[in-house]
Amino acid sequence: MLVKISHHLKNLSKKSPAIKKQFFPSDRENNFSKRAFIDPLLEEKFSPIKGLCQKYPRRILVELTLNCASFCRFCTRRRKITDIINGQITKEDVDKMIKYIKSKPDINEIIFSGGDPLVVPNLLIYALKKFSNLPQITIIRIHTRVPISDPKLFNQKVVTAFSKIKQSLYLSLHFEHPDELTPETLKIIERLKKTRVILISQSVFLKGVNDSYEVLKKLFTRLAELGIRPYYIYHCDLVRGAEHFIVRLKKRWPLCLSSVKIFPVSLILSTWLIRPTDAAKSRYR
Ligand code: SF4
Repeated sequence: MLVKISHHLKNLSKKSPAIKKQFFPSDRENNFSKRAFIDPLLEEKFSPIKGLCQKYPRRILVELTLNCASFCRFCTRRRKITDIINGQITKEDVDKMIKYIKSKPDINEIIFSGGDPLVVPNLLIYALKKFSNLPQITIIRIHTRVPISDPKLFNQKVVTAFSKIKQSLYLSLHFEHPDELTPETLKIIERLKKTRVILISQSVFLKGVNDSYEVLKKLFTRLAELGIRPYYIYHCDLVRGAEHFIVRLKKRWPLCLSSVKIFPVSLILSTWLIRPTDAAKSRYR
């Protein structure tokens, strides 16, 4: 996986080991076990057309690019993230997605996810307009780390486009550590709060980054205070090259249980999600 770290994160990593660990490569990435998967969620198998993955009847995942503002070393899609040329999606590709959705009337939710859709703002605006015109679509979700990874890339044109969407529009900001809540990122959050976008956050539970009750409590409390619901914390997938980020079960459970007992505000109780590794299931079938 290529290395890409914005100036913003480079500066931040000088005083934050948690940021450094997320974005700077480690020799341990090449030291993977036989258990690890290249595509742990079997997304390639469920990709009928370029940039679109459908694993569930009612929702689809759309990848408008394989580029991101910075590349997270723990990325589940590290098999293909950074492959910017092959991941390039055109307006014609979006039109093919529209045709596909129309042929599946059960689909009601679109999820734009990583590669980061906010690094291709013009294409995102085009896709939002097209998808939101489909009467069957009632929910749109956009996942991004741009406000965290490179706030300068955040584009006001996208915010204007958000305000034109009539469907419920969720913006999921991926926060892993309280050090990511910089003044630059907070400014973007303030701008977003003035729109009708519903702000949520999801995190990945990462060894050496946020595998501590105090760190998670600080992060989730601050997010709730900012009006961002921290709705999910994912167990790091068993992905090749990122195994050193996986927290052992022995450490996870006490942390999980203490959070249920002690977190003072129910709003900051994230759902702890351990995704069934589809690739693992198929291996043992
Ligand atoms: S922003 Fe998301 S898609 Fe991009 S590298 Fe990070 S985790 Fe992967």
